[in-house]
Amino acid sequence: MPLPKLFFSVICATLLTSSSTFAKDDHAEHAEHAATATKVETTKEAKHEEHKRKASDITGEKALSMLKNGNTRYTRAHNRKDGAGKLDREKLLEGQKPHAIILSCSDSRVPPEIVFDQKLGEIFVVRTAGESIDYSAIASIEYALMHLGSNLIVVMGHESCGAVKAALATLKGGDAGSPWLNKLVADLHPHLKRFSELSQTDGVVVESWANVEGVAKDLMDRSEIVRRLVESGDVKIQNALYRLGSGTVEWR
Ligand SMILES: [Zn+2]
Repeated sequence: MPLPKLFFSVICATLLTSSSTFAKDDHAEHAEHAATATKVETTKEAKHEEHKRKASDITGEKALSMLKNGNTRYTRAHNRKDGAGKLDREKLLEGQKPHAIILSCSDSRVPPEIVFDQKLGEIFVVRTAGESIDYSAIASIEYALMHLGSNLIVVMGHESCGAVKAALATLKGGDAGSPWLNKLVADLHPHLKRFSELSQTDGVVVESWANVEGVAKDLMDRSEIVRRLVESGDVKIQNALYRLGSGTVEWR
């Protein structure tokens, strides 16, 4: 994915800037605190770039209905025949305008393009085990929001998720298999703490929903861009859970 310089400037500015700085008047800040001039300039730059966000014409609600319709086609085995041919590839040479961002588990049984019957250039997909979010997952989502204009974020978990099971198994300690795996399950632990004394539900469905909701909250907490776009109503965030047997996506 070629990342324009613009993207890096927004990300760097965002990292350098606290939410409280955003609330202040930039010019007053500059005059009072010359030493923080660089920080203020980057804040202004981030604000400026955010104003230039070119949102997709497809609203979050509309994008959600497109995904729901796609999932219905998939479960009924009436998949689209268009969208993945030579002409479609050529149309996308100039760029992409995906109508939705999907954050989902990497599990090979849950490919969003297939379960939503979406084609080339239509959805921007970020996948990690247990849909856990690190800086690169968050940055990828911010990139799609700011530079590709998507107005919908879907956080999707699934039935019988191995990452959720591993996190449940290590709630009271234990080794997930490597330092990085330990870090990943530790990121999921806060979402699952309340299940520590309970036996697992069928297909860890209840626990997987709790993980999805925890990840969505983490994303809002950790990304100022996501939080502001969702709170302003410009972008919709939607939780989802995929059922392996039926192929159905449930929504909350
Ligand atoms: Zn999974």
